[in-house]
Amino acid sequence: MFCGMNTENPNIRPRIRQLDDAAANRIAAGEVVERPASAIKELVENAIDAEARRIEIAYADGGKTLMRVSDDGYGIPADELELALSRHATSKIDGSDLLNIHTFGFRGEALPSMGAVGRLSITSRAQGSDAAAVISVNGGRLEPVRPAALSKGTVVELRDLFHATPARLKFLRSDRAEATAIIGVVKRLAMAEPHIGFTLRDVSGGGAGRVVFQVDPQNGDLFDALHGRLAKILGNDFAANSLQIDAEREGISLTGFASLPTYSRGSAVAQYMFVNGRPVKDKVFYGAIRAAYSDFLHRDRHPALALFLECAPALVDVNVHPAKSEVRFRDPGQARGLIVSALRHALAEAGHRASTTVADATLGAFRPENRPVAPVYQMQPRPSGVSLQRAYEAQQPAFQETAPAYSGRVEPVQPEPVAADQPLGAARAQIHENYIIAQTPDGMVIVDQHAAHERLVYEKLKTQMAENGVAAQALLIPEIVELPPERHAQILEAAPELARLGLVLEDFGGSAICVRETPAILGQVNAGAMIRDVCDELADMDQTQTLKDRIEAILSRVACHGSIRSGRIMRAEEMNALLREMEATPHSGQCNHGRPTYVELKLSDIERLFGRT
Ligand code: ADP
Ligand code: MG
Repeated sequence: MFCGMNTENPNIRPRIRQLDDAAANRIAAGEVVERPASAIKELVENAIDAEARRIEIAYADGGKTLMRVSDDGYGIPADELELALSRHATSKIDGSDLLNIHTFGFRGEALPSMGAVGRLSITSRAQGSDAAAVISVNGGRLEPVRPAALSKGTVVELRDLFHATPARLKFLRSDRAEATAIIGVVKRLAMAEPHIGFTLRDVSGGGAGRVVFQVDPQNGDLFDALHGRLAKILGNDFAANSLQIDAEREGISLTGFASLPTYSRGSAVAQYMFVNGRPVKDKVFYGAIRAAYSDFLHRDRHPALALFLECAPALVDVNVHPAKSEVRFRDPGQARGLIVSALRHALAEAGHRASTTVADATLGAFRPENRPVAPVYQMQPRPSGVSLQRAYEAQQPAFQETAPAYSGRVEPVQPEPVAADQPLGAARAQIHENYIIAQTPDGMVIVDQHAAHERLVYEKLKTQMAENGVAAQALLIPEIVELPPERHAQILEAAPELARLGLVLEDFGGSAICVRETPAILGQVNAGAMIRDVCDELADMDQTQTLKDRIEAILSRVACHGSIRSGRIMRAEEMNALLREMEATPHSGQCNHGRPTYVELKLSDIERLFGRT
């Protein structure tokens, strides 16, 4: 039976009624204050909107018993305190233009919502006023405004969140998990506001508590301030390994810092995106970032970055979600295009330099008293003006599989004065059959010959592809490769596309294929192993990838098979040819999987190792 609210007469439908303010606020609170971290976000955003320079945040028991945000902003006059707590009351918009919002807040919902689900008090002293006042609200019930003591700004305190709604209390996670979420929110906001100082304390035990996070206001222009702030939050390694992004197109600008491919993560955790200063998690961004780095990073590696997109408020709707973590672009294609091109441009500029002097942590590992630590790579600006293209044109690839029998560890090479002033210097030795040691004008480099060559082959394949398709070479004896049935069908379907990539194959009956031609540039390859890799790549592909992305993913796999293997002894000319070719090839600083192809040790670093400086 229909179970209505009207108990006197079950046949009559319940009447429509206006909810009272307390109920409306509690409902709104469900969206705005999901957990302690979302309350902190609203309160800190209010402080930023109030032009605070320093914001202090405290929480106890993961924010469940206490949250307090203090700022030195312009405050709220005593006679507006009550209004601040009523629903849809805001000083930030007049309601006439919802498409022109320049503040974090505008919905006028946060404070009344919090007042409905906890014990809230606001103490404030408005700019120019000679006294402070306090108002408090408990489970929706307002107390009268009283005088209070405060020298400047506003202190908002929210105690016992959800004490009146135990059902919601149950949805909260452990104190530690809620505290982690609070820290995350504060760090994000601190990234976007480098000129504001933030202090976050855990006051669970009472007293002054423990400082969990602290950053002073950064000085300097936007990029300096941002760089300094990101170094504090994402770490010095991020700051040292990231590229400045600064692009503008059709009224949208993108600024920030993005990591070199050699500094990548196993997930997208270190990707921070902001739209008009608001932290967002947005599909447009994630897709654009993936596309921009697709050429340098394997699909399961992710760059670290903090990107700030700014545009006229009318081009983006922030009013999609009460917590405002989603946005809707009026023209998503335009935003995506800008992000992809800005990142690609910065990566291209970094070029083959996208590697790496050996940083302090690694230097430490050289010292006998220290145990090895994970390597950290650092980018250093290179001297400009070296004509790389000329060096490139003068060189023909000279990598034949003609390994002489050799059993020693070190291959000494005669000094080659001509090359000593090139960025990657003159090859001096090959060690452990995979690392080339070269002397540069001001130090030395160690090149991973396999990784470097793989990148060079890949870049050449791409160039050929862009011209007339990859040149193929017929195999003397076609190779028959047995595949799992589903792969068999898949690769045959892709056969016409693969032929343009220099890989000619046909059905051989059953679930076998016959490989007739392979890319000429690869020389002799193990066709079976290559085909199986290409199959894996095809199986992995996601349908949203552009054709170009798919081709590049396959070429990258193919390149792997044409590369000088580690373990191959190289002659001096071969090594020097490889170095010259690297200098002339864009993006040769990292291999197709985002690892560096070489690292550099400056003479000054070497001198430091020996205690000479
Ligand atoms: P909104 O931020 O959407 O306007 P809120 O409920 O968060 O709504 O805040 C209501 C109003 O209270 C704000 O518009 C602002 O005028 C005032 N206010 C809130 N917090 C502060 C603060 N820390 N400093 C100064 N004014 C504040
Ligand atoms: Mg607000």
